[in-house]
Amino acid sequence: MRSFTKVLSFLLISTILATYAQAKTYKWKLAMTWPSTLTPLASPPQKLAKLVKKMSDGRLIIRVDGKEKHKAALGILDMVKGGQYQMGHSGSYYWKGKDINTVFFTTIPFGMTKDEQYSWFYYGDGMKYMQKVYDKFKVLSFPGGNTGVQMGGWFKKEIKSLNDLKGLKMRIPGLAGEVFAKLGVNVTNIPAGELYTSLDRGTIDALEWVGPGMDIKMGFHKVAPYYYTGWHEPASEMQFLINKRAFKKLPKDLQQILLTAIKAVSYDMFYENFDASATAWAKMKQEFPNIKVKTFPKPVLKAMKKATDEVLQRYAKQDPLFKEILNSQKEYMKKARAWSKISEYDYIKTCKEVE
Ligand code: CA
Repeated sequence: MRSFTKVLSFLLISTILATYAQAKTYKWKLAMTWPSTLTPLASPPQKLAKLVKKMSDGRLIIRVDGKEKHKAALGILDMVKGGQYQMGHSGSYYWKGKDINTVFFTTIPFGMTKDEQYSWFYYGDGMKYMQKVYDKFKVLSFPGGNTGVQMGGWFKKEIKSLNDLKGLKMRIPGLAGEVFAKLGVNVTNIPAGELYTSLDRGTIDALEWVGPGMDIKMGFHKVAPYYYTGWHEPASEMQFLINKRAFKKLPKDLQQILLTAIKAVSYDMFYENFDASATAWAKMKQEFPNIKVKTFPKPVLKAMKKATDEVLQRYAKQDPLFKEILNSQKEYMKKARAWSKISEYDYIKTCKEVE
């Protein structure tokens, strides 16, 4: 009888606690690397806040702060780790200085397309490795929206040979910057707000940003008319960060709502950006016919590929985990690329043949 009373009171207390957790409102803050107006990069967190509020019936409220508020565009990981913010939205490769393995969760030159990469994340070993790398920062990390293939950038002069790269001053971040540096480019990184002025004044001769959807608004074409097709960021993935301790304190249903909403708004960013780029591309052809769309000459591309392999091999020698993740991506890409070629790529070719 006594044990029955014990069980009963235990159940009662559990129910009260569960009801309390159910009724409690959780107020979180999320910091993004981007200014609030920089869509589509700034879209997933803002859509997440709205969606989570609705799905949780107002029990999980997320306040989203853009760069204009917290002034620490590249301090997101530290702020989420330290708990000043429960969540962050950024790009994994910005943490390359803290851990080189973070680059794999954004994109790497000549790497996977967004379909291939998403499949690696969710059905290959991508999520496993991402969590392994971020464990030491005491945060959870999730894919946070993809730009798809990024353009190779805006150049004031045509790149006809490798010689034209020597001494060129260019804004290009990530591993691609290291690759270009090997080819003699003077590489810098400049914040978004200063890009146009730097190009206009000749502080730099070239830059890469994202794609037509985001680039045309910046006006780069007015001072650098050569627009190159992509090689260096084939599927740049943004990133949602969550402070682990804060996540553990959420009731199970709110955890699930948050994770489900993250996936939904992240996929959505790709479509928002695809639409913006398709629209801008059509407009560009009509309104700015002076833009010269180019692909780098084959010898230049071959040198880029060789330099990429050398940069990757150098890191693989220094860091066993880098080697492991690189191999995981390579293996997955081999399988995935064969299918990409025979499915979507072949379909587009087929349509072209009957145009
Ligand atoms: Ca870029």
